[in-house]
Amino acid sequence: MTSASARVPARQQSIRASNLALAYRLVLDAPTPLSRAALAAATGMTRATAGALADALLAAGLVQEVAPPPASTAGRPATGLVPASAGWVGLGLEVNVDHLAACVVDLTGAVRRQVTVDGDQRGREPGPVLADLAALAHRVADDLAAPDAPETGPGDALRIAQVAVAVPGLVRSDGGRVLRAPNLDWQDVDVVEELTPRLPEAPARPTVGNEADYAALAELDADRELRDFLYVSGEIGVGAGVVFDRRPFTGSRGWAGEIGHVTVEPGGDACRCGARGCLETVAGLDALRSPDPDASERAGSGLGRAIAAAVNLYDLDTVVLGGAYAQRPDLEELVRAALAEHVVSASWAPVAVRRSRLGGTAAAIGAAASVVHRIHADPAAWEARD
Ligand SMILES: [Zn+2]
Repeated sequence: MTSASARVPARQQSIRASNLALAYRLVLDAPTPLSRAALAAATGMTRATAGALADALLAAGLVQEVAPPPASTAGRPATGLVPASAGWVGLGLEVNVDHLAACVVDLTGAVRRQVTVDGDQRGREPGPVLADLAALAHRVADDLAAPDAPETGPGDALRIAQVAVAVPGLVRSDGGRVLRAPNLDWQDVDVVEELTPRLPEAPARPTVGNEADYAALAELDADRELRDFLYVSGEIGVGAGVVFDRRPFTGSRGWAGEIGHVTVEPGGDACRCGARGCLETVAGLDALRSPDPDASERAGSGLGRAIAAAVNLYDLDTVVLGGAYAQRPDLEELVRAALAEHVVSASWAPVAVRRSRLGGTAAAIGAAASVVHRIHADPAAWEARD
């Protein structure tokens, strides 16, 4: 009896938490501000229950109320709920081979700040690189807190909920450790441990992820039409993010998408990973900058063949070319041609190929957005936080 009754509050807690998440999801997905009556109707809850959930989201600073459009209804006009544009934000940081970046995304999904600092990170020890990254994070945090920050009024301060760090390498899924980033020459670096004491204050512990996975997430947020796609990021290294049914697929250990190390030229040039003829050796930025007149042709063809293999395996209908590839219409054409040749179903259903509109900053945007997605998915966890 005791144990049964002790379990009830926990169960009620979790029912409330999932109802709160459902209510928040409806506010987030609504095309126009959602009234409390509409929230009750959409959830099948009583007005009192739906109203209590709306109040809880308001009290947590996760939504805000907006006035109804004039004369929207004949009766008493209702205020509507929208995601809050002030309060919690995600701070995304990116370490890449030739730049560091920071980006702030708010609960509406809008990018509020963005900074990129060019600089070759190869050959540097992880410590100094992470110190520079932390300094960049403080620069952005100070800017958020500055009295002349371009927010809309008092009480509209933006507060960092969590920091997410994008790195071009394999990250251990249980938190924070970069196992290997070949192009940075990083091996087993505990990024969270190193960064946590140096970062601006945030209630949640920092997290680390793969840059192409984060970039794919940013692409997903930017285009509501996308469902199943492969995002390929071309930097010094080449990485990919796979999305099925609008959900990132990261594999059983979180390492899916290492397209840069697919062999496209057996016995070809040595790769930083230790193998030969990897896609990176023909389609990474170093290869693309080569004066060889065939460099682009070779890159596009290798890229196309590696992508075709992924499309043949997973039946993806769209490929998004990001990072430096976003500026290369010639590569887009070469990839399209290679897919027409190598994808077995291409004559019935051509694969759509397009370049990312987010360009080189997608990973930092996606890292920041990943924080926002976590808040969206579990609003109850953010109720008691200040
Ligand atoms: Zn390789």
